[in-house]
Amino acid sequence: MPGSPAHFLSVDEALDRILGRVGALQPVSVPLPEALGLVLAEEVRSSEDHPGFDNSAVDGYAVRSRDLAEGEVLLEVLGEVYAGRVSRIPVGPGQALRIATGGPMPSGADAAVMVEETWEQDGRVRIRGPILPGQNVRRAGEALRKGQPIMSPGRVLDPAALGMAATVGRAFLRCHPRPRVAVLSTGDELVEPGIPLEPGQVYNSNSYALEALVRLAGGQPRRLEVLPDRLEVLQEGLAQAAAGADLVVTSAGVSMGERDLVRTALEALGGELDLWKVRMRPGKPLAFGMLGGVPMIGLPGNPVSSMVGFEVFVRPVLLRMAGHPPQARPRHRARLAEAVDKPRDLRVFARCILEEASDGPVRLRLTGPQGSGILLSMLEAEVLAVLPEGKARMEAGEEVEVLLLDHFQGRPMPANP
Ligand code: AMP
Ligand code: MG
Repeated sequence: MPGSPAHFLSVDEALDRILGRVGALQPVSVPLPEALGLVLAEEVRSSEDHPGFDNSAVDGYAVRSRDLAEGEVLLEVLGEVYAGRVSRIPVGPGQALRIATGGPMPSGADAAVMVEETWEQDGRVRIRGPILPGQNVRRAGEALRKGQPIMSPGRVLDPAALGMAATVGRAFLRCHPRPRVAVLSTGDELVEPGIPLEPGQVYNSNSYALEALVRLAGGQPRRLEVLPDRLEVLQEGLAQAAAGADLVVTSAGVSMGERDLVRTALEALGGELDLWKVRMRPGKPLAFGMLGGVPMIGLPGNPVSSMVGFEVFVRPVLLRMAGHPPQARPRHRARLAEAVDKPRDLRVFARCILEEASDGPVRLRLTGPQGSGILLSMLEAEVLAVLPEGKARMEAGEEVEVLLLDHFQGRPMPANP
């Protein structure tokens, strides 16, 4: 309904409504090298026994264990079995074949002896027994049986999973693709960094922070040009953003100011947009809509609000689209180092650092002024402390839930695609 008043919702209600409208993206076939971090959407089974044939676990000699029941024996060396070749020479009594690790066991031989434990001269090799049947032989099918299930849908494709897929001969895997996310900022006051500011203008920072958040959350961002507060241009920009995207994320233009035209533009395109006032700080205004089947999340314009809004609402959507369970972040609990006053009916996401305490566990300290336009509070933050609704003041020492913001978890930064 155009012009209808915004609804008040709790954070949980807003997130539920959003998640009720999105699902995992349709699986596609992805080449192994591009599948790292994606979620598997099929059952992977072993197509063959693995190993496919008995083979030697060592570099050495393929022998008959019966020849080497005890004592030292001299065997005739018939030749060599290389890895990747099958020898047609059978090993008879008193005979041996040189064999490489992974070389198929020749017929007649039932054990392999490490080269370090042998002495070869003039076509004969001296070996000390006893050698047991099957010693140093990897049996066909000992690692995997044909048809054995290896990985199930929902499995995150880590390096071992990719190696395993290759082991069973798979060059492609059916996976949920990376969500394609159009990122766009709106506002007449915005100027791209690198251009001198005129009076009243500010640099567009949200597009860059959101693009980076999307990428690190496993999405494929497409940052679009800033859209001015003009209906026709907004309309065209939103239509372009939705084309070829799985999700559109906008910042600004969703509060109730008279120049906030995003809803009007979307409705003119045949889409729908709900404007919500979410009982949270930072980031009260939030919009959720659909345009031609593509969900759109409108985050507030204030830089901290848009980043926190991403953590709370966009990240779970990206996770669900990618086939993960949609929990936002690893959750932990910690105690506040200081008292914090807050509006009773709002859930506050306080930007905090973890302070090492000499007498106990880490404590949460605010990263200075918490204004929703003060991006420094985010720059310093290691966690978001979740200060629950229903309380007007949190006391020092009170325990609260925290969302870890560590994007790299000690890993080097990923390369740009
Ligand atoms: P709005 O949501 O349009 O009312 O904007 C709220 C505040 O956020 C205003 O001070 C805007 O100038 C600022 N803002 C909006 N969009 C951006 C952006 N892309 N980058 C940095 N600041 C922004
Ligand atoms: Mg604005």
